[in-house]
Amino acid sequence: MTVSFELTARDGAARTGVIRTTRGDVRTPAFMPVGTAATVKAMMPNSVRQTGADILLGNTYHLMLRPGAERIARLGGLHRFMNWERPILTDSGGFQVMSLAGLRKLSEHGVTFKSHVDGSRHELTPERSMEIQRLLGSDIVMCFDECPALPASDDEVARAMRLSMRWAARSKEAFGDRPGHALFGIMQGGVNRDLREESAEALVNIGFDGYAVGGLAVGEGQAAMFDVLDYAPGFLPEDKPRYLMGVGKPDDIVGAVKRGIDMMDCVLPSRSGRTGQVFTRRGQINIKNARHQDDPRPLDEDCTCPACRNYSRAYLHHVFRSQEIISSMLLTWHNLHYYQEIMEAMRQAIAEGRFDAWEAAFHEMRAEGDIAPL
Ligand SMILES: [Zn+2]
Repeated sequence: MTVSFELTARDGAARTGVIRTTRGDVRTPAFMPVGTAATVKAMMPNSVRQTGADILLGNTYHLMLRPGAERIARLGGLHRFMNWERPILTDSGGFQVMSLAGLRKLSEHGVTFKSHVDGSRHELTPERSMEIQRLLGSDIVMCFDECPALPASDDEVARAMRLSMRWAARSKEAFGDRPGHALFGIMQGGVNRDLREESAEALVNIGFDGYAVGGLAVGEGQAAMFDVLDYAPGFLPEDKPRYLMGVGKPDDIVGAVKRGIDMMDCVLPSRSGRTGQVFTRRGQINIKNARHQDDPRPLDEDCTCPACRNYSRAYLHHVFRSQEIISSMLLTWHNLHYYQEIMEAMRQAIAEGRFDAWEAAFHEMRAEGDIAPL
């Protein structure tokens, strides 16, 4: 069986459908929680599934350094290792080498770098990235690419994009023929329309199972990101999934889906859960704030997650202030649940041809802000 993509409805540029893999279906638009070190922090895998997630993201860079891809392969692959039997997408390691590793040296061949964990020397190339993602057993593999931080000059963005396109061809060659596994190309080109178009053409000529829009959410701001998303998805084939990497806040996600994106990932809901930042239909709440300490009401009275069904704001405030582990567990669960609720609502709205009305209500509710203090 191959990985396939079926579009079931469109509403404007927004699309809904399903990616079918040997490990289960991924309903799109899909949000992928991030399981950096073979765990979505503070969550059990079945809890992640209960929030509505169909697929997780794993990080090649982190897993190759610790515990090591060969070790995970010997232990039966990433799915078994972390007890998540549903689909996993792994990134290529390229982005995190650039953002986390020390003493990087970039060449045509690849990148050598020093581990941020123990200072050891490593090399990532398109070929090694494909090998690591094969050892992990990931269902959706990403091409190895170079993503420059913005702002960068057009010359720098063009150089990185063209190198990434040569690496994409090497990634495809090294990936080979692996039934049941998909390889996605990554479009680069920063905020430059001509470079985005050149990148898309290069990728489509190589031919991939899906296409990512890379190199966004790297400091350009939402308006510039949406400007790119107004045209970039249109350069990609209609019949393949489109994945926006590393995005984002709830309104970024809604804006991306509106512009034709099918998949996204971000650490924000899980990371924010550990720092007391809560996403709700009424915007963002800081649970640390003293206004919550006597409040018996839930974070969101309409939310069905365990944090909202069983606990008051006062309790969540208390366990956060006391640095109790359950604070990270409950707030992460709520945030992931809220993100998946947005995805489900968008899938339904697109299927029923009422995305614009749903989007207007989404923004209106957020503009109202949090419930008034008692
Ligand atoms: Zn909740």
